[in-house]
Amino acid sequence: MVDIFPNQAAKNNVNAAIGHRLLVIEDNMGDARMLQLMLEEAEFATREIVHCINLTDGLMKYDEDFDVVFLDLSLPDSRGFETLERFLLRHPNANVIVMTGFSDKEMGIKAVKAGAQDFLPKGDYEVDKLIRTLYYSIERSNTLKRFDEAQRLAGIGSWELRAETKEFFFSEDIYNILEAESLGKRFCYSDIPDFRDHHFYRFFTDIHKDVYNLYQQGNLKGIQKEYSLDFSKEEKIVLVRCYIAKFEGVNPVFFGILQDITEQRKAAVLRQEKELAEESAKLKEEFITNVSHEMRTPMNAILGMSNILLNTQLNTEQHDCMKSIKQSSEVLLGIVNDILEISTLQNDKVSYENQDFNLHEMMLNVIEVMQYKITEKELSFDLSIDPEVIPKIVIGDKLRLNQILFNLVGNAVKFTDRGFIKIRLKDMGRQNNKMTIQFEVEDTGIGIPNDKLEAIFDTFTRVLTKNRLFEGTGLGLSIARKLVVQQGGKIWVTSRLGEGSTFFFSLDFAIPINQEEVVKVSSYKDLVVNPDHAFRLLLAEDNKLNQLVAKKTLEKQWKNIHLVIAENGQKAVEILERESFDVILMDIQMPVMDGYEATHHIRTKLPNRAHIPILAMTAFAHIAKEDKFKEFGLDDFVLKPFDPEDLYYKVAIYTKNC
Ligand code: ADP
Repeated sequence: MVDIFPNQAAKNNVNAAIGHRLLVIEDNMGDARMLQLMLEEAEFATREIVHCINLTDGLMKYDEDFDVVFLDLSLPDSRGFETLERFLLRHPNANVIVMTGFSDKEMGIKAVKAGAQDFLPKGDYEVDKLIRTLYYSIERSNTLKRFDEAQRLAGIGSWELRAETKEFFFSEDIYNILEAESLGKRFCYSDIPDFRDHHFYRFFTDIHKDVYNLYQQGNLKGIQKEYSLDFSKEEKIVLVRCYIAKFEGVNPVFFGILQDITEQRKAAVLRQEKELAEESAKLKEEFITNVSHEMRTPMNAILGMSNILLNTQLNTEQHDCMKSIKQSSEVLLGIVNDILEISTLQNDKVSYENQDFNLHEMMLNVIEVMQYKITEKELSFDLSIDPEVIPKIVIGDKLRLNQILFNLVGNAVKFTDRGFIKIRLKDMGRQNNKMTIQFEVEDTGIGIPNDKLEAIFDTFTRVLTKNRLFEGTGLGLSIARKLVVQQGGKIWVTSRLGEGSTFFFSLDFAIPINQEEVVKVSSYKDLVVNPDHAFRLLLAEDNKLNQLVAKKTLEKQWKNIHLVIAENGQKAVEILERESFDVILMDIQMPVMDGYEATHHIRTKLPNRAHIPILAMTAFAHIAKEDKFKEFGLDDFVLKPFDPEDLYYKVAIYTKNC
């Protein structure tokens, strides 16, 4: 970060108010005394004069607070022009006035070219000239300092290259930006040993070539180009703007600036990477959605047909085969659903319900569903909920809680061959009307190695235990973790290899004051359906197998159903123009006219039919979950492959058959 109020600037202001500090490096006592007397006579505001009699002391004494340095070039430990060079190399920003011999004006001019602010020939200046030189040099030095400061704040360095004299002029910031050792503000590269191997040389010859080529092609504007440099500690990207300022003979004088744009470029790369990651996540999600849709459609036929066949007269062998087919396709459907689920969760697209439900009943239901497996494996099972502590009715997302519990309890049963499974619910504290409930699922199964305790929550992680890999996709726990974390909860596990594991998760629930259950009809089991009910149902579905599955499934439940099939949306509209129905089952993806379009047509162009309930039949779980169907004028949906009970439930509700 750039310090915009460096101490130096603050100090300068203070000094200006209370007088100047001068450093005099002069071995001749007479000359030094003379200078002091002249300053007194001129009433120059002086705070302090420090006098050194050789260069070594002068270099040590100098600090940034000195406003002026009077430097004699002939000192006991340094003679001639080298004195100035040595001083400026150590203190490139110093305001140096060179004191030259009486007959040595040329040396003075050379010194100014090399970075001194001015020169005074000893014995040949008067008070007026001294004062002018002092004020002029201080002002010039301050202006340069401001210029340098502006460059520092902007992260820009300026440079000049004179090909004729092989001279470089670098602002201090060139070295700062390139994190390189200083060679001074001005240097002749022919004076520097091995400069041709120096990274500056290589860098600037590249620029030289680029500008010169452009110049020869008639482009006099110069270049603006980014260079990647790797000669400092981290790679740097610098932007160079440069042009040929003039020619000295045939040799060009280049003038340019150099700006550190590493951070901007890095940020741009990160932005690009982020956009790419988002784009590929989107593509991945679309791909997964489409693939799972394609898989769910034929599975609708497999599952539906299995259900229908299982209800016909089969011999034992046929019955067992059919049961295996049904079970396998249910497993397959579970995997497809998991993949779809994790892709939705990874995109944070899930919205959570806030409805009251009976937690105690839900827990009993989990056990009931798992009971068969538990008995089969001869495991003992225990559920502990303290009814005094854990309220019966809580507000939250029941379906998601169910899903988390089924994943954890399902795993406990899968990975345990003997011993017990225990589920505990604990009150972890209340605030206002909310309480945190901790759920624990303990088993005495195979356990999890310590170094895998974190990884098992990642997607597709399965632990190989004693060379055995249990069936599964490695998605269950990552789904559970997403569901818990997205609801603001925590999930973790403790385990001992060979002894068992305990999975914990905690979630907040709102607690209604009224603990009386609101009885809602939410499943087919809760309905009393009249099998003699006569009603008309229009089925719009293009897939022949699915037509058959739906027809057979519905006719099995309602023998008096009048069922008409339309093979696409267009046909459905034509049929509806002639005939009315009590309910329409509308497939979404159909040729000629799809389900959305047909629904829109019915709702807007067929006033006598616009009131008919339309249920979407879709394998696109997303559409169903996000209530998308409502936006299209559909009343509800049946997810394919449909569970016959779900289909009966929805049809019964919408035909007021209960
Ligand atoms: P899946 O069970 O479908 O493989 P999960 O994400 O549910 O996927 O679990 C990931 C892995 O974590 C499992 O494959 C198993 O190695 C390990 N694991 C999960 N639960 C248990 C448990 N109760 N006991 C032992 N290992 C478990």
